Amino acid sequence: MKPVLQTRTVCVGDSVFIGSGHPIVVQTMCNTHTSDIEATVAQCRRLAAAGAQLIRITVPAMADVQHLAEIRRCLREEGIQTPLVADIHFSSEIAMAVVPVVEKIRINPGNFHPDHEKARALFGQFLGLCKQYNRAIRIGLNHGSLGKYIVEKYGNTPQAMALAAMEWVEMCIDAQFYNVVVSLKASNTVVMVNAYRELARLMQEKGVIFPLHVGVTEAGNGDSGRIKSCVAISTLLSEGIGNTIRVSLTEDPANELPVAQYLAHRYSGAAAPSLSAREETILKAACDWGAPLLNHEVDDIPLEDDYLKDELLQACRRKFYKPEYIACPGCGRTLYNLEETFNRVKEATSGFKDVVIAVMGCIVNGPGEMADADYGYVGEGFGKVTLYRKKEPVLRHIPEDEAVERLVELIKNDQAK
Ligand code: SF4
Repeated sequence: MKPVLQTRTVCVGDSVFIGSGHPIVVQTMCNTHTSDIEATVAQCRRLAAAGAQLIRITVPAMADVQHLAEIRRCLREEGIQTPLVADIHFSSEIAMAVVPVVEKIRINPGNFHPDHEKARALFGQFLGLCKQYNRAIRIGLNHGSLGKYIVEKYGNTPQAMALAAMEWVEMCIDAQFYNVVVSLKASNTVVMVNAYRELARLMQEKGVIFPLHVGVTEAGNGDSGRIKSCVAISTLLSEGIGNTIRVSLTEDPANELPVAQYLAHRYSGAAAPSLSAREETILKAACDWGAPLLNHEVDDIPLEDDYLKDELLQACRRKFYKPEYIACPGCGRTLYNLEETFNRVKEATSGFKDVVIAVMGCIVNGPGEMADADYGYVGEGFGKVTLYRKKEPVLRHIPEDEAVERLVELIKNDQAK
């Protein structure tokens, strides 16, 4: 294991410190509707009790800023001090409105405005406010949702992701705002690992290293989601890269925590979670073999369990024995039963080969976040679904009860051509 990269330390509220010297911070995200204050408070209560050190909550509309304030008030009243992170997409107005309300704000500044210069100006204003309120921020860029300006300028590669992030990192340094965490997530483990490595290198070159929030986005669920997350996150942690982690699963967010805690324990000595023997075997194999497979140091692994071996090889993109699935974890924007639908899609499509199938929780971010999926099932809400081929919507407003069947037809017809 390489020594941990010496990053700056970020303070989130009064009690959570992210950065070198501190154990890896474990976080997760609510999948309740933010407007449903009672349900969100109840979920936060459960997640805090299960060991979440940071809890992220989506803020899709301006009205949710007040909902978030109320959620925080209720939690503090109960004595739950876990810092909250507001998850903002696109709207700089909401990002700025939420600054007084929570301890940390996650934004992708490139999406603040289609005009890049205006996006920079808005990010500058946002930083001023965060400085005033002593907030922490996460600059969160995802492989699937790099701004048009970035893709045109640098392409859609791990290097492009890192260079894109550096532009915002440099703005923070120029503004002397250092309470910054950065993430470069991707669902493709190779892209994800290389993007973080490149960003760590660029920040080292710059001489200011912000802590990194490490995660595989849209990892899916079950064993595959856990293995995909562990191979990539453990590879980075074993190189000393990564200070806070989220294991995104299309499941109850509480299920993410033992997996993240296993990683935090293994790589930074945090408290060990209690796991079943099977879970422990899977996570250990993913951490033992992730780096050697991703780095092409080995081509095969000496495991007798063929299923586990296949899963590991596929997670490291060394062999594709079944379709590759991408599924977001869902959040307050999701308007249908994502986990159940994802399981139905997996069951109906398991026989296809050489396809990447995405199941996404919302029409606002889902299509952009699907990255390199061949087909996408995107919930529109109100019982309707849009099916995508690559980035193109090909069947819109399909009733939910027909959508899985129509997706299978679409793939079959394409494969018959
Ligand atoms: S794609 Fe999924 S996780 Fe992302 S905003 Fe939409 S519902 Fe939430």
